[in-house]
Amino acid sequence: MDTEPRSNFLRTQIQSDLDAGIVDRVVTRFPPEPNGFLHIGHAKSITVNFGLAEQYGGVCNLRFDDTNPEKESQVFIDAIQADVKWLGYQWDGEVRYASSYFQQFYDWALHLIDEGKAYVCDLSADEARDYRGTLTSPGKNSPYRDRSIAENHALFAGMKAGEFADGSRVLRAKIDMASPNINLRDPTLYRIRSVVHHQTGDHWVIYPTYDFAHGQEDAIEGISHSICTLEFEDHKPLYDWFIDNLPVPSRPRQYEFARLNVNYTVTSKRKLKLLVDSRVVSGWDDPRMPTIAGMRRRGYTPAALRHFCEEIGTSRSDGVVDVAMLESAVRNDLNVTAPRAMAVLNPLKLQLTNLDAPEVLMVANHPADESQGKREVHLGPEVWIDRDDFRQEANKKFKRLVLGKRVRLRGGYVIEAEHCDVDANGEVTKVYASIVPQTLGEDPDDGVKAKGVIHWVDVITGVTAEVRSYDRLFNVEDPSKSESMDDVINPASLVVGEAIVEASLVLAAPEDRFQFEREGYYVADRFDHAPDQPVFNKVIGLRDTWSNND
Ligand code: ATP
Ligand code: MG
Repeated sequence: MDTEPRSNFLRTQIQSDLDAGIVDRVVTRFPPEPNGFLHIGHAKSITVNFGLAEQYGGVCNLRFDDTNPEKESQVFIDAIQADVKWLGYQWDGEVRYASSYFQQFYDWALHLIDEGKAYVCDLSADEARDYRGTLTSPGKNSPYRDRSIAENHALFAGMKAGEFADGSRVLRAKIDMASPNINLRDPTLYRIRSVVHHQTGDHWVIYPTYDFAHGQEDAIEGISHSICTLEFEDHKPLYDWFIDNLPVPSRPRQYEFARLNVNYTVTSKRKLKLLVDSRVVSGWDDPRMPTIAGMRRRGYTPAALRHFCEEIGTSRSDGVVDVAMLESAVRNDLNVTAPRAMAVLNPLKLQLTNLDAPEVLMVANHPADESQGKREVHLGPEVWIDRDDFRQEANKKFKRLVLGKRVRLRGGYVIEAEHCDVDANGEVTKVYASIVPQTLGEDPDDGVKAKGVIHWVDVITGVTAEVRSYDRLFNVEDPSKSESMDDVINPASLVVGEAIVEASLVLAAPEDRFQFEREGYYVADRFDHAPDQPVFNKVIGLRDTWSNND
């Protein structure tokens, strides 16, 4: 279901750069910080960066922007690589790390010092904030701004050697404290932080800032188009200042697009981490999480995510996308690709009074795709049907089984309900029905048609499975507006129950997806499903039950 690329400003830009010979090859990168799992917003960024490279015959790098070691870890590095691959993309060459360029960044910092364009500043964080000024008033020069090149060299070397306490000094660029753009008011290049780094160990106790690292990483890797989100637009003059003032090997350019926001969810690693840490969810890959790993475990498909990201477009104006669009992309993909199977969630026993011997029916796996073949489905003297599919009496609108009326068992015979057992509470405990002869794949001879089709599972061969019914995690459109997440969690976002499933489902492999006829789409759980202990997650219902006009 991959979508035709639509024109957008990034495609226009790249095409014109290629046409004008400004670049001869498109090289993009996806640069996550490994401080959490990737979410749906990152999926957008991945499809943009890898997608553009693919479309224009270029390459895309996967680069960990690992300049903040405190919050980063190998667990996240591994998860991110798995997510990118699962989405269907392959980065160029080895995975890259900003940290492998730390020596180069250090040398470039020395270069700026030599040129009189960087200095060591001893202002405390609070003082530095006061000196920076505001959006409406200019900043003031730091009293340390005019240190000699030699003194800056010595102090910076001391910072690197671990001679000073964390936070006691920084290296700053010397640009313009009166610039209307606050990012140009002598931004920080290096901070002292004596923490162990997951890649470089204890080699460094000073770490570059995002601003000092990012553009230079791009230049080292020969990135032609450095695509980021709009919050970096104000940083672009600084990005360009470094490229102009350093002997970098190439000239990348930054382009910004609007972040993806989705209603009924949060797309901020910080907030997602809160959900994990407070155990509202079972982990970063909980099937209700908008993380790529969560959506994967929920049963969403890579094709559906790619399709969604293309459908919503790429622009420079902020907006909120309706989560129903994502859900509908999943539904549309699974409708075409998922084989059908039968599972009864709310079982009621039905006895077939005239079945002579058990039979094996051959049932199509997909109503519209013969290539998906057929499977064997056992039919014995007793079957489970859904309690909601039977009534002792009902009006004409009820297209299911009613005493004295007919219905077709999916893939099997037309049956007619004869009578039922009822317990002391008036609850039906068993239904008795007869098979109308010669109705396998045909209408009854007597012209009395079945009113509808219901799903069923054979009692003898059916298997009990755990069914985890998932729904949206939040019950308000903008959960981030709420003070406490607890107030806005949908209490029905996970309901664990049981179902009786047809025997063929025992053969399902983890992550196999199905449409349980008339119930919805389900996936065999990636981690917990096993043949002797089947576990299915609800991916999504057959219809949108959240929209008002439903
Ligand atoms: P978060 O705010 O969730 O922590 P981030 O931007 O800090 O996200 P990074 O790891 O720095 O996360 O992101 C890697 C890339 O993904 C960046 O280029 C960033 O612009 C992009 N990205 C992150 N969130 C979104 C989003 N919601 N929509 C589009 N792109 C995004
Ligand atoms: Mg970030």
